Parts: sequence; C-alpha cells; structure tokens
Amino acid sequence: MSADHDDEVAVVGAGLSGCLLAAFLARRGYPVTLYERRPDPRTGRVDRGRSINLALSERGLDALRRIGLDARVMAEALPMRGRMIHPVDGEPQFQAYSAAGDRAINSISRGALNNALLTEAAALPGVQVAFDHRLVDLDPGTGEMIFETPQGKVTATAPVVLGADGAGSAVRGQLLGHGLLRESLDFLDYGYKELTIPPMGGSFALDPEALHIWPRGTSMMIALPNPDRSFTCTLFWPTHGTASFASLGSPAAIERHFAQHYPDLLPLAPNLVDEYLHNPVGVLGTVRCDSWQVNGTVGLLGDAAHAIVPFYGQGANCAFEDVVELDRCLDECADDWSAALPRYQHRRQGNAEAIAQMALANFVEMRDRVASPLFQLSRRVEHT
Ligand code: FAD
Repeated sequence: MSADHDDEVAVVGAGLSGCLLAAFLARRGYPVTLYERRPDPRTGRVDRGRSINLALSERGLDALRRIGLDARVMAEALPMRGRMIHPVDGEPQFQAYSAAGDRAINSISRGALNNALLTEAAALPGVQVAFDHRLVDLDPGTGEMIFETPQGKVTATAPVVLGADGAGSAVRGQLLGHGLLRESLDFLDYGYKELTIPPMGGSFALDPEALHIWPRGTSMMIALPNPDRSFTCTLFWPTHGTASFASLGSPAAIERHFAQHYPDLLPLAPNLVDEYLHNPVGVLGTVRCDSWQVNGTVGLLGDAAHAIVPFYGQGANCAFEDVVELDRCLDECADDWSAALPRYQHRRQGNAEAIAQMALANFVEMRDRVASPLFQLSRRVEHT
C-alpha cells in the first residue's frame, strides 16, 4: 500500500495523542478518521478512581500552542510553582521549581484536556470520529482494519494507520502478532490508587500552587489541585506483601495506617476509607518496542510506542512531542510517509528511552531515595 496527500489516515485511539495527531493532520489537509473504542467521553462520566490529573509542562504546551489550543487548555489548568514536601512530623516545606519562582508546571484533568483536544479535532474539516469502535484486527500489508462495534463487526481500510491507542495498544499487538516488532513490558511491583481531598469551607485545603508530596520510603503519595478546589491524591504502594495495598483490609486498619504515616492527610480526607476500599489499584509499567513503524504505512505514537511510569509527569508531554516531530518529518519529507515515519522513529526513540529511565529514577528520588536497586522493583515480560 502507498499513500498520497489526499488519502485518508486512520488514527486508532481518540485519547490525548490521537486527538492531537488528528488535529495536526487535518491542518495539513489530510482526511482523518479517529477510531475510539469508548463512547464519546464528552457525554459520559469518569470511571471511579480513574480521574488522573496531569502535570502539563512546556513540552506539552508547545504542541498545543502550535494549533492555538494553549489558552483554552490553560484556562482549566492550575500552575504549580514548586513541590511541597510533607514530612511525617513537622511543617510542610516548599521547594520552588525555579529560584525566581516564575516557572511552573500545570495541573490539568486528563479528561478535560482530552475533551478540549477532541472538540478541536472533531471541528476541523476532514475529521470524522467513530466512537464505540474497538480495533480487533489489522492487516499491516493492506491497511484493512476490523472493529468491534455495538452493531457488530465493521471493516475499514486506510493507506496509513497510526496507533495512538495507549499502553495496551491493539495496533502494537497486531504488529507483534505479524512478527513485525518486538516489545518488552516492565511492570513495577507498585500500583496506584486515587484518593480525594475535597474543598474545605469552600477553599483549597492545601496550598493550590504546589505539587504536594508525602515521601515515605516504601510508599509515596502526591496531590495535585483541581479547579473545583479539591485535590486528587495518588498513593503509590506495592500491590502485594506485608506493607502494600493488599495489607489493609478493614476501615480500622486503614485509619491506623494513615494516622501513623500520613497524619496531616487524615483530617483533610473525610472519604478516605471509602475511597481506599472501593477505588481500583492501577498498574504501572514501561513499554518498549523496537519498531515504531512498519513499511512507512503503519506507525505508533504516545503510550502505544513508549508508555512510561508517571513519576516524571512526562508521558502525555512526551506523546505530544511525538505528534510535533511526526508533523515536522512530514514537512521535511514532503508528505512522503515512507520517508517520514522512519525519520520520526529515528528522532524520537532515543528521547523516549531517556525519559523512561529518568521516570524510573525519579520514583526513587520522590520516595526519598530508598536504597533499592531499580531492577528489584520490576518484573519484565518480553514478546518477540
Ligand atoms: P491514552 O491516553 O491511553 O489514550 C489511548 C486511547 O485509545 C484511549 O482513548 C483508549 O480508549 C483508546 N483505545 C485503546 N485501545 C483501543 C482499541 N483497540 N481500539 C480503539 N481505541 C482504543 N503524563 C504527563 O505528561 N504528566 C503527568 O503528570 C502524568 N501523570 C500520570 C499519572 C498517572 C497515575 C498515570 C497512569 C499516567 C500519567 N501520565 C502523565 C501519563 C499520561 O496519562 C499518558 O502518557 C497519556 O495519557 C498517553 O496518551 P495516549 O494518547 O498515548 O494514550
């Protein structure tokens, strides 16, 4: 299969990178169909304990600026000018991100960011969005895709297919199944659980201009502010073992644990026990694959190509950089996909590996430099 500028591009996954990519490609004049396994997120509700607020940094903002979306996104973001470290005893300590206090990273809800990107992409001429379309099969040689929909299986074909379908990418899975790439998945023995600090008397219960961190050695919690004056906390802890999510089974045990290790949190989180018992534990891992493109016609972007652990707050920022780089490569290669996709992989793969390693190293830094070698924290699955 080959592509020219009038041919349709299929983008699988209408998450952060897929929507941004669709917007960039539509601005280049391509007809784009975005296929998303879920219903329209703008009409639905967020799964319990899966709200996720992101730290959006300059790397991500740069991409948004290029399509004029930065101001709209920033209107829903809260700048965090430093980290606030909460010790077990004593007062929290603020560490500014820059000496002048003028640098910030921005707290934004992943859902709000996704909706803004989706609305932007869907409004552009040439973009179609097919919700409730889950990719289940792909022929990398012909670009034929099969989707499961509520109405049954649907087939579509596109000369260029781009997988922006997240860490568990079905596009990557299809390439793997056809023997066109090798992947490795490194899961941490740590998971994460969301908890909430609601507004107190109508105000933020903590300083909203900081990313709050409770470093506790074997566990760690962070909290980012939301525009409704609540904070979303994310507790990182081993999934199994004597000190782990699995070790606290009763409301009394949960309260005892938080009173001992997070004493300043307890009075601020009235729903803590209920949330702890009912919110899911998310998995954390690093995805690597040796090929991010095949034959210049099928490509991978964002978490589909390189999911990383969240401790540097760079997964989405990095996904946005992929989109900018692919756009740049299309410019340089006069929209010849067979040249642009290999160039994009060449430029981005080393950077993605660097941030993957820095994110793992920052986990140790944030937990307070616990002396565990990183390899003891993870288990690896290799697929060839
Ligand atoms: P996703 O956002 O996962 O989107 C993939 C989309 O594809 C989804 O809409 C999904 O429904 C769809 N899809 C999946 N399979 C199929 C299929 N078979 N067919 C069709 N559609 C499909 N990043 C930061 O930059 N800063 C942070 O502070 C930060 N904090 C994080 C905190 C946590 C706890 C976690 C878990 C992640 C964090 N990240 C952060 C990472 C960030 O969320 C991801 O890097 C980002 O969402 C990747 O975007 P994506 O578009 O590649 O994938």
